Amino acid sequence: MEYASGTGKKIVLMQGDITKIPVDAMANAANSALAGGGGVDGAIHRAGGPAIMRELDAIRAKSGGCPTGSAVATGAGNLPARYVFHAVGPVWHGGKRGEPELLAACYRKCLELAREHGVRTISFPAISTGVYGYPQKEAAEIAIREAKKHLDDPSTPVEQVVFVLFDRAADEIYRSLLQSTSGQ
Ligand code: ADP
Repeated sequence: MEYASGTGKKIVLMQGDITKIPVDAMANAANSALAGGGGVDGAIHRAGGPAIMRELDAIRAKSGGCPTGSAVATGAGNLPARYVFHAVGPVWHGGKRGEPELLAACYRKCLELAREHGVRTISFPAISTGVYGYPQKEAAEIAIREAKKHLDDPSTPVEQVVFVLFDRAADEIYRSLLQSTSGQ
């Protein structure tokens, strides 16, 4: 399933492990301490090796971490990528504490980092939808909307946004959303 923007740029869906898919930049679902964790964050650090945490240590020493709704860039160690963008998604508290705007800001920040670094292909996990509890469908709507907006900007170097869904249920949600909005 693909979405092609007016500018010929694409959204691609894949099911599986984000650490195995070659891209220019891989987004990570990190925490504001940039301290590593479980889920996709754990998988990225395991596969990428200690160089990534060393860079995060330096960022943490300078700025204390990363606020929710933002992201920081590091190299990608042993991962099949040039950069990892560590995005800090919101914890879901029912949706009335600014979660949609914070989640959208995360995707936007990663896409802006992609622009700054001349990234052509970027992959995203379903940020906030694991331990942080964000409902899959609501999160997917935001992810797809922000990706489309970015790809519709002719000045971005990004040519492909790859959403990597870990399980079948998430993959199906993205597929049906992409289908139902692809004419828009
Ligand atoms: P958060 O704390 O932001 O909720 P999690 O890592 O707990 O982050 O989960 C985010 C999403 O990433 C979940 O949908 C989870 O199923 C998915 N996920 C976990 N491991 C991987 C992986 N190796 N590749 C892609 N997605 C993954």
